Amino acid sequence: MSIDNLRNRIYKRLYRLESWFQDRATRLFAWLYRRPVESRETYETVGGDEVDAYMFSNESMLFGQHTPFGTILLNKHLLSDVSGQTETHVVQHELSHRDRNSVIRGLWWGIIFSMAVGIAYGLYGGLLVLLGVSVGALTKLFAYSAILVVTGIIVNRLEETKAELDALHALGEGDFRAAHEEISTIGERSVVGLILGVLFYPNPETTISLYNKFQQIGLYGE
Ligand SMILES: [Zn+2]
Repeated sequence: MSIDNLRNRIYKRLYRLESWFQDRATRLFAWLYRRPVESRETYETVGGDEVDAYMFSNESMLFGQHTPFGTILLNKHLLSDVSGQTETHVVQHELSHRDRNSVIRGLWWGIIFSMAVGIAYGLYGGLLVLLGVSVGALTKLFAYSAILVVTGIIVNRLEETKAELDALHALGEGDFRAAHEEISTIGERSVVGLILGVLFYPNPETTISLYNKFQQIGLYGE
């Protein structure tokens, strides 16, 4: 066997091992988030590529999610009733997250994890206040909590804005607007859901005007 042959065989094995790990890790992640995978489906992107998505079903308003393992989860239940452009919007948005530079993606997951720690600090501090500890004694704890949470919100907002810009770039303004109009009419959002939506996601009109500005300075060319 030639050395090239051997190398190819090793690469193939490694690729299969990586796919196997990616598949198991995605399913475990989805299960931990209480969105167990029901099936795998293939979607066509605007560019004509085929992408693999892991499907889950639940009543939440979450259309899709990317995982730390370079895969995407889509809510079959929500996507079954929407138009093609909305489905495309959701897929392109999640693909944008998925295809982010791996260093940035790693930092993002780290910051999201830190935000969860920040929330836990805040809740713990609140509990101590209820138990009679003075707020003054907990200043540091609340400051750490606030820094972690605010950083998480800002970074997440930037990441979501980038995903929205990429989705707009792929769909074009008309379909992007139509998709958002349709999404806004679906289901009922809880108060918490509404607050999180405003904090984390840019409004579609803001995305469009930002996109136009970027185009003027040569970003997002044809
Ligand atoms: Zn997103």
